[in-house]
Amino acid sequence: MEYSDRIRQIPPYLFAEIDRAIEKKRSEGVDVISLGIGDPDIPTPENIIDRLCKAAHDPRNHRYPSYAGMTSFREAAAKWYKKRFNVTLDSGKEVLALIGSKEGIAHIPLAFVNPGDVVLFSDPGYPVYRVGTILAGGKPVEMPLLEENGFLPDYGAIERATAKKAKLLFINYPNNPTAAVADKKFFKETVDFAVDNGIIVCHDAPYSEMAYDGYKAPSFLEVAGAKDVGVEFHSLSKTYNMTGWRIGFAVGNPEVISGLGKIKENVDSGAFQAVQEAGIEALSGPQDSISEHLRVFQERRDVMVDGLNELGYAVKKPKATFYLWFRIPKGYKSSAQFAECLLEKTGVVMTPGTGFGKYGEGYVRCALTQPRERLEEVLQRMKRMGNK
Ligand SMILES: *Cc1c(COP(=O)(O)O)cnc(C)c1O
Repeated sequence: MEYSDRIRQIPPYLFAEIDRAIEKKRSEGVDVISLGIGDPDIPTPENIIDRLCKAAHDPRNHRYPSYAGMTSFREAAAKWYKKRFNVTLDSGKEVLALIGSKEGIAHIPLAFVNPGDVVLFSDPGYPVYRVGTILAGGKPVEMPLLEENGFLPDYGAIERATAKKAKLLFINYPNNPTAAVADKKFFKETVDFAVDNGIIVCHDAPYSEMAYDGYKAPSFLEVAGAKDVGVEFHSLSKTYNMTGWRIGFAVGNPEVISGLGKIKENVDSGAFQAVQEAGIEALSGPQDSISEHLRVFQERRDVMVDGLNELGYAVKKPKATFYLWFRIPKGYKSSAQFAECLLEKTGVVMTPGTGFGKYGEGYVRCALTQPRERLEEVLQRMKRMGNK
């Protein structure tokens, strides 16, 4: 069987290899602790589950959903944006329901990218920006996220000719995997760069609500001119522990939303309406669960950051996300070698930075998706492992 060129261009999926290594360790009887995946370990709040159960019994929800999402879901998303960011959206034209934001991110290049067009995206970053570009026949071009720039892309470093060929630009703050945050000044620079070069901005914002110490992440759309040049992808996955439910939405420029909608109309038939109703409950119902979960993640963050620093690693407390991003200790050849060694010696899984792109080399990502006791166990084991 011969796969298409586009499939062959997709880089090997590092996470599948890590899964195999984990399986092997487990089969040897090792108690593996995985801090590898960005998937909340806390269940979805009860009120959201109850709403799904009720909505699932309604026969109106058993039929094909409307392509753009239920009017009521889009209105709930628009209201939430108004309340949270003071951004006004026309729920009819500027909001589109997604089957998880990954779906929209993967599909949007199909709407705007012709073969050979450049798509700019941050590296290290969520792998879907690159793969979605490849599947659309576009040319992925990395914007390095360097520590000395606060893990923000440097638009001044992008060649003029490349910028002129770019159709789309993906950014993501609060950031996965670096946990960096961006302010409105950076978003304004992004708008200016997009205007100068005729680029559509796609801001991926699934961690906007996962923030600590009083930090509140801004929306890209809060900045003047942002809606003229781009859209923001939002997800209920991380905010409400709903990764398995597959529900998110895109908001912003009506023409961009309409282009993405056209692809979706022809590929999928929308999210299950009962899940959309549960999404309405998430966005409009009581929000106390968010602060409760943030307390849990913040406690884990503090335990883990303090513990790792005591062991001689240099880890900063992130203001947002549930990731720690830090340099591998001296003496290791690569991120992959460190991650392998960690798994081999301690049964602990962290993700090598190169899983997110070549500029992730030298770093490792630790997801705080295990209870505090397990994190303490991780620290004990790492202490025994010692430093190279
Ligand atoms: C988790 C995540 C997403 C995708 O979330 P969905 O479950 O598809 O809504 C998108 N971008 C980043 C950076 C993520 O970490």
